[in-house]
Amino acid sequence: QPGEPILRVRGLGTGYGDLRVVWDVSFDVWPGQLTVLLGRNGAGKTTTLRAVSGLNKASAGRVELAGRDITKAAAHTRVKRGMAYVQEGKRVFHGLTVEQNLLLGGYTRRLKRPALREEAERMYELFPVLGDKRALLAGTMSGGQQQMLAIAQALMAGPELLMLDEPSGGLAPVIVNEVMERVGRLKETGIGILLVEQAVEASVAVADHVAVLDMGRVVLSAPADEVDDLQDAYFGRT
Ligand code: ATP
Repeated sequence: QPGEPILRVRGLGTGYGDLRVVWDVSFDVWPGQLTVLLGRNGAGKTTTLRAVSGLNKASAGRVELAGRDITKAAAHTRVKRGMAYVQEGKRVFHGLTVEQNLLLGGYTRRLKRPALREEAERMYELFPVLGDKRALLAGTMSGGQQQMLAIAQALMAGPELLMLDEPSGGLAPVIVNEVMERVGRLKETGIGILLVEQAVEASVAVADHVAVLDMGRVVLSAPADEVDDLQDAYFGRT
């Protein structure tokens, strides 16, 4: 891989209270690339993201952001250092316009109004549908559009690492592909992306690296172009 990973996770262990649900998990995310975490329901994907973001405590292992050990850093400190996390089922503010939602996302950067608006314009280039609907209430948009708004809102904080937990959740298959394609294009901005997904094919298509979790452990870790028939090997046919 060229250069240093933006995120390096080594031997991570975490859980809830005394209940350990993630064991010895290791993976990397590189700038301008996308790593997808796959696995069945309950495999430990969300719990892993929670530990990387600082919402869960790591009971073992190490998390590094841009070469810096952040294993014990508070969640808000990680945000300040360049991490953005869109949790599963994240809702946007329905009663605010698309643009107001975006501007809120940039709030922590203490940018002046013109700079914030420039950032919003950048988001409209990444997600043209948001530009078209900037003056509309977010609640009037479709589920896929609201998911894109949630992602753009997180990007307004100017992260170097974007973590997305199941952005395809609850969306129709054709919309899932559209959202994945947009997420894949975000790599061009140079940020690293860590994606948790159930939509195996659509996410692997835009991924550079794949890690499969099962029962809280990594059972497969490989470049995306080297994994075939994941669906059969790890998820079975129902
Ligand atoms: P899903 O796609 O269903 O979210 P996942 O791979 O993200 O699955 P996790 O949500 O990380 O899996 O769950 C991993 C394990 O941790 C599961 O056995 C789950 O029951 C357990 N778990 C999740 N959240 C909690 C919690 N708040 N308290 C206790 N156990 C939890």
